[in-house]
Amino acid sequence: MVLKIIDVVRLLEQQYGNSDWWPAETQFEVAVGAILTQRTSWRNAKLAIEALREKKMLTPRELLNTSCAEIEKVIRPSGFYKQKANYLIEFASYVELKYGGDISSMSRRSPEVLRQELIQLRGIGPETADAILLYALAFPSFVVDAYTTRVLRRLGLNAGETYDAIKANFESALGNDHARLANAHALMVVHCQKRCRPSPICVGCIFTDLCISKTE
Ligand code: SF4
Repeated sequence: MVLKIIDVVRLLEQQYGNSDWWPAETQFEVAVGAILTQRTSWRNAKLAIEALREKKMLTPRELLNTSCAEIEKVIRPSGFYKQKANYLIEFASYVELKYGGDISSMSRRSPEVLRQELIQLRGIGPETADAILLYALAFPSFVVDAYTTRVLRRLGLNAGETYDAIKANFESALGNDHARLANAHALMVVHCQKRCRPSPICVGCIFTDLCISKTE
């Protein structure tokens, strides 16, 4: 059987159902989380988000009214806090100046235009831009992260050679279904956290019969 993206996603859905991934209270908080989780675990990013919430620094205006040094101190648990403080300030300025501080108004623009705008900001690459589009703004923009590429590689499924090719192939396989794309990405994360870890737990894995990398 030649494994396809849709087969992988169906098996993940059968196994794990709907994931409650990326719980957040506001769209801006989701975007802040997408920046803070770069190069660290979600657990560390969450600690930083909780600290920002406690200090009432989770709106563009509140962040811009806070000194960079104070933001660095508060987001320290996320690691790379000096760079990330600057990234947050740049993103908050963008939302404030271009969208009047209201991230929801970004939804009126096309995802293609927004993606280009986001990628031009410091600290926002394709993966972070897609996480903001998918989870904060509910656009059908698949996120290709290290978890997804790990599962694909281990399964021996060639879904494309580049970030954009893999993203396009997932979007083509799952259609313009934002919720399904978001869940598919979330389930890749869940699967890698539960089983397909750096040292995988293959016994009992849903992919055992299909995976070229399974271990005993
Ligand atoms: S069989 Fe093992 S390596 Fe393959 S997807 Fe499952 S956990 Fe990962």
